[in-house]
Amino acid sequence: MLDVLVIGGGFWGSAITQRLRRSGLNVACLDADLEGAASRAAAGLVRHSSWHSPPAPWWEQEHSQACHEFFSQGWVDEYTFNRYQTEPRLKGTVWCGDFPWVETEPARIQRLRPENGGWWAEGWQARQVVLSAGCWCDPILAESGLPLTGVQPWRGSALLARGGIRRVLTRTYRLPGDTRTRTMTARNWGKSQLRLGDSLPDREPEQLAEMRWFLGNLQVTEGEEIWGWRPRLARPLVENWAPGLVVATGGHRNGLALAPAVALRVQQLLQSQQMTAQSSV
Ligand SMILES: Cc1cc2nc3c(=O)[nH]c(=O)nc-3n(C[C@H](O)[C@H](O)[C@H](O)COP(=O)(O)OP(=O)(O)OC[C@H]3O[C@@H](n4cnc5c(N)ncnc54)[C@H](O)[C@@H]3O)c2cc1C
Repeated sequence: MLDVLVIGGGFWGSAITQRLRRSGLNVACLDADLEGAASRAAAGLVRHSSWHSPPAPWWEQEHSQACHEFFSQGWVDEYTFNRYQTEPRLKGTVWCGDFPWVETEPARIQRLRPENGGWWAEGWQARQVVLSAGCWCDPILAESGLPLTGVQPWRGSALLARGGIRRVLTRTYRLPGDTRTRTMTARNWGKSQLRLGDSLPDREPEQLAEMRWFLGNLQVTEGEEIWGWRPRLARPLVENWAPGLVVATGGHRNGLALAPAVALRVQQLLQSQQMTAQSSV
């Protein structure tokens, strides 16, 4: 039997799996490779400010510390370049370049059930389960007869184009009739491609036109659209959903920034569950 089964291998599932494996646990991470997975489309921008104000009631200093430690391990490029400036600027925003993705097993889990003091998930057995399936958590919980999270999928889009740029480029802009200032980023996306985008579900066509204009300025014209479902909840949800089952999802933006702290919180929850189980034997 596995110690922990993680369902969903996006940013959250990967960060959680990596942390749990580092602590010596036998962990499998399953991923269904679904179209629209948020982490495959995300820009990778991480805001330091995200972990300064507590985004969840359980948040403590050690969770901020976990983020600091994680992001000082070399996963990020500390500078963004503005196309009008020759020098890099540190703007409180860092780019999460090489997020440590974990190896996942291909599987799509439809439902879970408690069994023999642990959990059963379609052939997989584990003492503990972490559900980090982003926008797809609720269908799994519904099929299992468990309460739902209410996570809302919020569509975001980006363009992939042929070409390369030296560093991350940002552009601030306003759409016609809009008072808010928007920011979009361009960065290398591997295989001689660059990625440009952000999410603005209410103004997606205009935002795509703005992206194409920006690409034109970079002298790149071809762009393939990619998209993802942001898991939108007012704040990230990391809870003991049932004995031995932790749900970790949501957060809308800044999901990437919070992932290391979420991983620590999951580790703490699992440790306290194990201690409770041992003391009741
Ligand atoms: C265009 C765009 C740009 C963004 N830019 C940023 C940004 O710059 N900075 C930022 O912080 N955030 C950004 N976000 C938000 C960010 O992407 C999300 O907060 C984050 O990726 C959520 O990660 P996740 O692991 O919870 O979900 P996901 O990445 O959606 O991962 C869920 C995983 O679960 C798997 N899965 C689902 N159902 C099952 C099942 N039944 N069985 C097995 N596996 C399953 C899926 O295949 C998927 O891989 C952006 C989002 C979009 C769409």
